[in-house]
Amino acid sequence: MVKNPNACGECHLVLAEGVDQCPHHPSSRVSSDWNGYAIIMQPERSEIAKRLKVELPGKYALKVNIN
Ligand SMILES: [Zn+2]
Repeated sequence: MVKNPNACGECHLVLAEGVDQCPHHPSSRVSSDWNGYAIIMQPERSEIAKRLKVELPGKYALKVNIN
């Protein structure tokens, strides 16, 4: 079974498979327990990006559950 990739608890960025550290938030917790998925291409024009406080394009989880 393929493990879910991790997502950053700080910015919700979905990380590449096997990566357990956000490149933008090295000290933040990551979790493979997250829900929802949004690909944000133009953060400045995206309501989801504003809600998640996303400033960089990428793939983001809508909800990250940090245990
Ligand atoms: Zn992050």
